[in-house]
Amino acid sequence: MQTVASRYFGRFGGRFVAETLIAPLDELADAMGNIVDQPAFQGQWRSLLRNYVGRPTPLTEAARLASAIDPSRSAIAHLFLKREDLCHTGAHKINNALGQVLLATKMGKTRIVAETGAGQHGVATATACAMFGLPCFVYMGEEDVARQAPNVGRMQLLGAEVIAVTAGSRTLKDAMNEAIRDWVSNVSTTHYCIGSAAGPYPYPELVARFQSVIGDEAKVQCCDQLGALPDALIACVGGGSNAIGLYRAFLDHESVAIFGVEAAGDGVETDRHAATLTKGRIGVLHGSKSYVLCDEQGQIAEAHSISAGLDYPGVGPEHSALKESKRVTYLSTTDEEALAAVTQTARCEGIIHALETAHAFARIGDVARICARERGRPVTLLVSCSGRGDKDLSTLLSKLVVRKDP
Ligand SMILES: *Cc1c(COP(=O)(O)O)cnc(C)c1O
Repeated sequence: MQTVASRYFGRFGGRFVAETLIAPLDELADAMGNIVDQPAFQGQWRSLLRNYVGRPTPLTEAARLASAIDPSRSAIAHLFLKREDLCHTGAHKINNALGQVLLATKMGKTRIVAETGAGQHGVATATACAMFGLPCFVYMGEEDVARQAPNVGRMQLLGAEVIAVTAGSRTLKDAMNEAIRDWVSNVSTTHYCIGSAAGPYPYPELVARFQSVIGDEAKVQCCDQLGALPDALIACVGGGSNAIGLYRAFLDHESVAIFGVEAAGDGVETDRHAATLTKGRIGVLHGSKSYVLCDEQGQIAEAHSISAGLDYPGVGPEHSALKESKRVTYLSTTDEEALAAVTQTARCEGIIHALETAHAFARIGDVARICARERGRPVTLLVSCSGRGDKDLSTLLSKLVVRKDP
């Protein structure tokens, strides 16, 4: 039996949902203990990660990028990238999607619904459904359907039905509303495969467990390649799944400083950003109590980010707790800075990462300076390279051409 207290991270999380969803959430929470934690499930899931996803993903040292960011190398000793961009389907999302769809088959579910922003979670879920032969329905805001066209095509090719959502800001928040609505109406046959460490309990815990493979691997790789733990971690935060997946293995190691980076859009001083932890207030969104962006009346506000995967006015509850306990420091990156970071990493390292990922990369210099000052020596940083940038190519080219042409 789950105690009520364990459904919370500090005072965040819980389940603020319609009565009809309580039983299915209980069923899922039970399955987390009775199925996911069991050796048989772990064996099958980890075999898929190894033989299908291509795990473990490499830990790559980025020396030229470190020198471009810190020419004197007085702040950065080593810069390591955890290469989730090299996962099958191009981002960390597949770790969780395979886990949840495998779990759904064990629970006897015959239909999968999902929401997606950048389309990476939609592609990952469509991929897992194709592998297991389950029908897949992906809700996606109309604005995201337009700006992430390659991923829409990919989902359709994989046999998924993509449903464009025209409500609200026509982005991730609205897609999630529709996915939840579908789940409520079809709950006996359907598993709702959430793409981030958000939503009502047990989702934030379930997704964090599936994504913890990132940090578990990175910790071993760092010790092998460096002989020590890193001084600091950096990850971008949308709902917060790649970040929590990296952090969990290191949370108990006080010597490791931990940073998360949110999307500042046009700037946190404007009203066009997605910096929920930096500028938000405590509220309820999609079944969970956490920081949210809202107006004076407490209505959820529209978020803005150039990266569809971070364009969300909420954040997973564990991040709100980690902000409050000060274990993690949350920073933000503007659209403009994210674009510059993509180009810089591409030219220094031959890696075109996603615009979401770029938010973490844009703060490497700041984090290095903060930590080097505190420790009185150059520091080793471990950055989550959460996904590849192919899906962003049209956005990147249009913005970069505009910027060359004053
Ligand atoms: C979806 C996505 C994110 C944001 O989601 P989190 O749950 O915060 O990790 C970040 N990077 C990439 C490449 C993504 O596809």
